[in-house]
Amino acid sequence: MTEYENLGKLNAPFFEEYKKSFADTLDSGWYILGNKVKNFEEEFARYNGAPFCLGVASGLDALILALKAFGFPPNSEVIVPSNTYIATILAILHAGLKPVLVEPDIHTYNIDPSKIEEQITPRTVALMVVHLYGKACEMGQIMEIKRKHNLVLIEDAAQSHGAKWRGQPTGTFGEYGAFSFYPTKNLGALGDGGALLMKTGELYNKIKRLRNYGSDVKYYNEVVGYNSRLDEVQAGFLSIKLKRLDEINDHKRALAVLYLQGLKDDFIKPVVSPDFYDVYHIFNIRHPKRDKLKEYLFQNGIKTEIHYPVSPNKQNAMKGIIEGEYPISEEIHATTLSLPVSFFHTPDDIHKVIEVMNRF
Ligand SMILES: *Cc1c(COP(=O)(O)O)cnc(C)c1O
Repeated sequence: MTEYENLGKLNAPFFEEYKKSFADTLDSGWYILGNKVKNFEEEFARYNGAPFCLGVASGLDALILALKAFGFPPNSEVIVPSNTYIATILAILHAGLKPVLVEPDIHTYNIDPSKIEEQITPRTVALMVVHLYGKACEMGQIMEIKRKHNLVLIEDAAQSHGAKWRGQPTGTFGEYGAFSFYPTKNLGALGDGGALLMKTGELYNKIKRLRNYGSDVKYYNEVVGYNSRLDEVQAGFLSIKLKRLDEINDHKRALAVLYLQGLKDDFIKPVVSPDFYDVYHIFNIRHPKRDKLKEYLFQNGIKTEIHYPVSPNKQNAMKGIIEGEYPISEEIHATTLSLPVSFFHTPDDIHKVIEVMNRF
């Protein structure tokens, strides 16, 4: 059986170091907002070439706090891709704002920049772009729209640790770049975690307060804050894994090359272009008989996943919230299939998948 993912195998190379780090935190007696979080924040900022970083409790919280930092009037509009993972849309709703969905490009699966401007109204305050599957968005056009309309830009980089557009890391283009360290992500912890990158001390201070009860000085509360902190144990693990994030990304990129070269052209493969450094959080193909293909692969000992089976506009939770037609998003959701591409997979695993797929 070729597994789609196995978090035990994925993390096995780090176990010895993780155990030392955990013992260290256990002995220290300091479990919330200590040196491990501080060190990881510095390391993650440096890795991305960002001036500042703050750890938070999850990727969803990172997105919510980023929006909250601006104090936008209620029901202000935020532009978001129609095929994102639901968390991006939930963040907008939890911040008391209105999601305005823009269709993705059918080739890149990222927001189609040529369709953004027609959705901008006087109530639009922010663009929330998502670097889906580990591919950066077309940032040139997005930065131009941001400047022209004077909008805040928040990047959902939950799937794109280390991905770049023209050499610049995702998460460093906008006011805030939001990351998730959910265990399956390219930089995954052993529990929940998240972070924000930011450019200025002002943007940094806002999040620092918001994540910790709105407080700068213990027991003095300046704003209506939250409890959303990365913990010391996870931060310790993340520092260890961050040192090998490039190796993880290189490994996934090498497996992706095997798929790109080996799979027959019946499968629509991810596009590759020199401007984009893709890290393949997910390696997806598209096929009109996706469900049959998934079943066929399972019968042949290969597990796959679907990211995602239901378009956000078709989710029960979005009834009465999202209106309109999103045919491109629905087409992607109906045809996409995610193939095994984990850090623990070997080239032989991938060759086997390719061989079975090419007989479909
Ligand atoms: C994983 C993910 C999130 C949410 O991250 P959590 O840490 O699970 O809260 C947000 N957006 C995208 C695109 C994601 O893939």
